[in-house]
Amino acid sequence: MLIELHDIEGIARLSGTDDHGNNWIQFTVDYFAEQTDGQCSECDAVISEGWVCLDGGEEVCSEHIVIAQHGNDE
Ligand SMILES: [Zn+2]
Repeated sequence: MLIELHDIEGIARLSGTDDHGNNWIQFTVDYFAEQTDGQCSECDAVISEGWVCLDGGEEVCSEHIVIAQHGNDE
């Protein structure tokens, strides 16, 4: 399953909104802050970077995210 994001914002850390209105933000595990690896809710891979849903808390690999080039089409 691919998650298409609209309204992409940010430079170092992108964020966006999916078709369901959920907010997603890119993350990278900060080992110095004693954060642990995440687990992709799509393919169960253990990931140190990807996207996290601010509403549901799901983490996914970047490969499941499609950045919409046309902005918000609603
Ligand atoms: Zn994955």
